[in-house]
Amino acid sequence: MTRTYSSHSLPQQQQAWHTYSSQTTLDLLETSSDTGLTSESVSERQQHYGLNEIEETAGRSNWDIFLDQFKNVMLIMLIVVAIISGVLDLVALQQNGIDKTGVPFKDTIAIFAIVILNGLLGYLQEVRAEKALAALKRLSSPQVQVIRDGKRLEVQAPSLVPGDIILLEAGDQLCADGQIIEAANLQIRESALTGEAHAVDKHCSTFGLEEEASIGDRNNMVFTGTEVIQGRGKVVVTNTGMTTELGKIAQMLQSVETEPTPLQKRMTDLGNVLVTGSMILVGLVVVGGVIRSGWGMLQSLVEISLSMAVAVVPEGLPAVITVTLALGTQRMVKRHALIRKLPAVETLGSVNVICSDKTGTLTQNKMVIQEVETPQGNFRVTGNGYEPLGDFLGTDHQQVDLNQYGELQGLLLAGVLCNNAHLSQEDGDWSILGDPTEGALLVLAGKAGLEQDNLESPLPRVGEFPFSSERKRMSIIAQTTPGDRLLNWQPEQNTPYLMFSKGSPELILERCQSYQEQTQIYPLTSEKRREILEGNNGMAKRALRVLSLAYKPLDHIPEAKTEDIYEQDLIWLGLVGMMDAPRPEVRAAVIKCRAAGIRPIVITGDHQLTAQAIAQQLGISQQGDKVLTGRELERLSQTELEQEVESVSVYARVSPEHKLRIVRALQKQGKFVAMTGDGVNDAPALKQADIGIAMGITGTDVSKEASDMVLLDDNFATIVAATEEGRVVYTNIRHFIKYILGSNIGEVITIAAAPIMGLSGVPLSPLQILWMNLVTDGLPALALAVEPAAPNIMSRPPFSPTESIFARGLGFYIVRIGIIFAIITISLMSWSFNDAQKSGHPDSWKTMVFTTLCIAQMGHAIAARSSTRLAIEMNPLSNPYLWGAVIVTTILQLMLVYVEPLRNFFDMEILTGQQLVICLFFSSLMFVWIELEKLIIRFFRRGQ
Ligand code: ADP
Ligand code: MG
Repeated sequence: MTRTYSSHSLPQQQQAWHTYSSQTTLDLLETSSDTGLTSESVSERQQHYGLNEIEETAGRSNWDIFLDQFKNVMLIMLIVVAIISGVLDLVALQQNGIDKTGVPFKDTIAIFAIVILNGLLGYLQEVRAEKALAALKRLSSPQVQVIRDGKRLEVQAPSLVPGDIILLEAGDQLCADGQIIEAANLQIRESALTGEAHAVDKHCSTFGLEEEASIGDRNNMVFTGTEVIQGRGKVVVTNTGMTTELGKIAQMLQSVETEPTPLQKRMTDLGNVLVTGSMILVGLVVVGGVIRSGWGMLQSLVEISLSMAVAVVPEGLPAVITVTLALGTQRMVKRHALIRKLPAVETLGSVNVICSDKTGTLTQNKMVIQEVETPQGNFRVTGNGYEPLGDFLGTDHQQVDLNQYGELQGLLLAGVLCNNAHLSQEDGDWSILGDPTEGALLVLAGKAGLEQDNLESPLPRVGEFPFSSERKRMSIIAQTTPGDRLLNWQPEQNTPYLMFSKGSPELILERCQSYQEQTQIYPLTSEKRREILEGNNGMAKRALRVLSLAYKPLDHIPEAKTEDIYEQDLIWLGLVGMMDAPRPEVRAAVIKCRAAGIRPIVITGDHQLTAQAIAQQLGISQQGDKVLTGRELERLSQTELEQEVESVSVYARVSPEHKLRIVRALQKQGKFVAMTGDGVNDAPALKQADIGIAMGITGTDVSKEASDMVLLDDNFATIVAATEEGRVVYTNIRHFIKYILGSNIGEVITIAAAPIMGLSGVPLSPLQILWMNLVTDGLPALALAVEPAAPNIMSRPPFSPTESIFARGLGFYIVRIGIIFAIITISLMSWSFNDAQKSGHPDSWKTMVFTTLCIAQMGHAIAARSSTRLAIEMNPLSNPYLWGAVIVTTILQLMLVYVEPLRNFFDMEILTGQQLVICLFFSSLMFVWIELEKLIIRFFRRGQ
């Protein structure tokens, strides 16, 4: 039987939910707090209410973005050139009638077309980049834990509907508005909505809430866009998508003013240098020409100046850069690094320190408890992975009878109850929903026959002091039933409540006054404490992550935020040691890092010995490196810390706020720091780091929001891979800038030389120059942009992110190669000018200059693939695009010379076979020169 739903019966979205009791809200939304909605009603509601998404309106209109592209000196100069050139054409048209090709104003039109094209390209790049980033952000869009069909599962935020029951924990970003039905110490930061920076306490009481209560006062409600700072909660979704409070004000949201990226800044500098330089040159040529030949030459001098201005602007560069960055971002995603802020693509290559988390990033985050130590004895635990099957072995390697170990039973029970993870099985595969550290405890208990599902009803949870990276512990309060068989491990006390705590062993031990052995309680002597700590250190040295468990009888339920009073006088139960194997690929990544001049550092909340053991296994911690704990760090002043950071490779037992101090200290030492983080409180450190890296799998939404890059696989090796790609991008950008600008300078000098040499006429028209700069330079430049990484890319130290674009000889190269270019073409020009006067085509020298410049660039492109290796030493097949570009460009250029309509359009003359051979000969000199340079440099290097 099929049921048809009428959408009119679905609950309404707009109501003053905050005034209803949670039961009323649940009823109105036709849902249940325990089982949630059924999948049927979810899909019905999805159809009715639509996707849970906020349509953001951009801060700048498309038109504004387009106009902004013209705030660029080079484009402004081109516009001026186009206008002047148009005026000159107009004058000529009135004097001589239509010109021979029949296309008046073609320079003006061509230049305007290029200007608009460049503007459009810049516009498209910005819009596309924003879209791409938005899409990438969506990839890392929040997953939400919901209850549907009575089961806990994770869904994508856009699929939420009113009536869904969602579970919140610290670090979550709210993706819908909802009413709280359960809260444990729940604190939410609503600054995105209310501007109030402090976190607010949330609970489920409607007490004192008027219908008109402001958003900030509705303490039983949560809203989209806000962040869970602490605690846990259960929420029923009341509003989704554009009907949420954030949706209502979405129009008012301005996208943040975007900072120019380092590359954009470098390009602006470059434009200024080029424009200023060419203005000076134009001035010299005009003044010199007038002095030499008088005012009669003025018109031809103006034409020369226009050509020079067009020649100096690298019109093809924006397109090539756009493509390079887009490809770079794509390559990074392929290697599991998702870029969230564009500058990261360019600056990743400059990273010289990587501060990494341990758990999950260096290790696999697959926790398996291998050892248990209780006051009564030590146990080894067997078994594989998360499957709750295995044995407890005593020191004699024999299986133990658990009934004889009271405190071990207590420890197992505490581990299951003081736990927010969930163990589940699907097709025989066991997996963990939630924190693997907690999951390991469920597996451990499972091996002893204790099942989570069977414990929650006899011992319901009535309170919680949640875990945080600062506290490094958590406690829950369970209600007891007197005489329950689950409590037969307990000394006769019969209190109505029990508190179970777990956390870092040192911290828990400090809070214990006694310990349990069998079913007896004994005071903790200092000797016993020492014994326990030795056990802890022993496990930690074996690279185990150690957690301790304790409990305490209570006769009432403590109020929220009274943990300092209640987490005292605990009864010690024991230690568990879990293996978290290092990721196999990290060792190689660390070696790569070191070769690349990048220092890896571990920052962890875990024990110093565990952290050091792992760091040593992975080669991160070397001879002489220090370990600094959070406590020691706290005693250091910031200046003292700055001195320490050079020699510390492991920071252990740190809190998130220490991370911020560590980044700052490293940056003060001139380091360019990449730092990973996953928790809410890591956000400030991620923002402060030069490259903030969030974890894609275990990371909280808040940390992702603050990051520049997200690791889709949480893997340290991915950071190194992204760094490598960053270097490739930056190296290739420098390559083609060298290539393009060398030719621009050559063109400018060649044009300027003509009147100085007394040659009549302009060697290159603006149209020809545009052709060169866009097509014959552009295609090979694009091919250089996809040049694969040089073999030594990760065996040299990183370059400074603030270095000028002209740094490391690039400026010198451009000028040097530009001059060589000019010498070659000027020699050709002086010979061909005289030759052409004798032939029937007096203007054919111009075509020869044009052709030589174009073809010489082909040799330049082949040689420019590497600045150290000779072209013949490189695998020609490693960049087939380059050969394609060279062949296509050469054919195109020959077509301009030999296809009549094209020739006429570009104002050229046909070349004789002899003339062409001479052009090819002069062109090849460029290639020969650059290869010779490499050999000479090599010779002198070897001599050193
Ligand atoms: P990291 O992620 O760097 O390993 P954490 O901040 O997650 O460090 O954990 C720090 C310490 O807090 C751990 O060494 C452990 O002792 C304790 N701890 C970790 N997870 C939990 C938890 N879920 N409950 C209680 N204590 C925990
Ligand atoms: Mg952690």
